[in-house]
Amino acid sequence: MIRESNPKLLRVTHQPHARGWMHYFEANAITNGQESLATQALFLVAHPDDETIGASAALSHFPNSVVIYVTDGAPHDQRFWSSFRGSREAYARLRLQEAKTALALAGITSQRIMSLGAADQDSIYEVPILAEKLLAILRWFRPALVITHPYEGGHPDHDAAALVANISRRCLQREHRSTPVFLEMTSYHARDGRCQTGEFLPDSTGTSEPILTIELSPEEKAKKQKMMEHFASQGQVLQGFPIGPERLREAREYDFARPPHEGPLWYELLGWPMRGEHWREMAVQAFQAFGESLCA
Ligand SMILES: [Zn+2]
Repeated sequence: MIRESNPKLLRVTHQPHARGWMHYFEANAITNGQESLATQALFLVAHPDDETIGASAALSHFPNSVVIYVTDGAPHDQRFWSSFRGSREAYARLRLQEAKTALALAGITSQRIMSLGAADQDSIYEVPILAEKLLAILRWFRPALVITHPYEGGHPDHDAAALVANISRRCLQREHRSTPVFLEMTSYHARDGRCQTGEFLPDSTGTSEPILTIELSPEEKAKKQKMMEHFASQGQVLQGFPIGPERLREAREYDFARPPHEGPLWYELLGWPMRGEHWREMAVQAFQAFGESLCA
C-alpha cells in the first residue's frame, strides 16, 4: 500500500500476505486517529539515538509509547567519547537529555523515556537483571508492540537488546500472559567488510519474514533530520545513517549461541574490546540463568 497524497498517512509497502501486526501501521488505523493513539508500543533499544535511526515513523505514529534504553550510552572506555569534557556520568546525562529533546519532536514526553542502566558496550554482562527490569515494565505497561534490534553482530549492545527481548518474550509466554508482538527495526551489520545500514541481515537459510517498509514523506524526513541533529554528541556517527525507508519485521527466534553470520562481525572489524565468541558465551550463561531463576 502506498499513499502519497496525505502527509498524515504512513506510506507503507508490504507483501500481500501481511501478518496481523501490520494493521497497526495501515492507513485506516491512522485515518480515524483512534487506534494509533490508543496503541502503545515499547521501544527497547540499546542507545539514545537507535530508536530515531531505525523507527522514527513508528515513534511519531505511537506517541503514547515508552522508549527504554538498555544502556546509558556511556562506555567505561573513554576513547569512545574522547571529545567530551567531563565524567562518564555527565556524558550519560547528556545523551539522555539529547534523547528527551529529540523524541519530543515525535510526541514522546520525557516521562516515557527511561534507561535500564547498563554501561554502553557492557550490557551483555547484565542480561539477567536487564531482563527482570524489562519484564517488570512489560507486565505493568502491557504494550501491543515491542520494537527492538535484530541480532546481527553490528554492536554488542544491539545484540544484547535482542537477547533481552527474546528472554522476556519467553518469560511472558511461560507465565501465560498476553504477549506483545515483538518486532525488529533495522540497525547495522557487516556486509562485504563494510557497514550496512537500513536493511536487515539476509537470512542464510533463504527464508524471510514479511517486511513492512515505511517510506518517509518529505515532512517526515525533515523531522527525522531534526531529531538526529539533537543527538549532537553522536553527530559524526550519525553521518553514516542516510535517511531512507524504515523497515520492520517480526522478531526472530534466534540461536544466540551461534554467530549471526559467517566471517567477522562489524564490532570485531572495528577492533572493539568485545569479541563475538565471548559475547555468545555470556549469552548462553544468561539463558541458563533464565531457565534456572528468571520467570519463577
Ligand atoms: Zn546503538
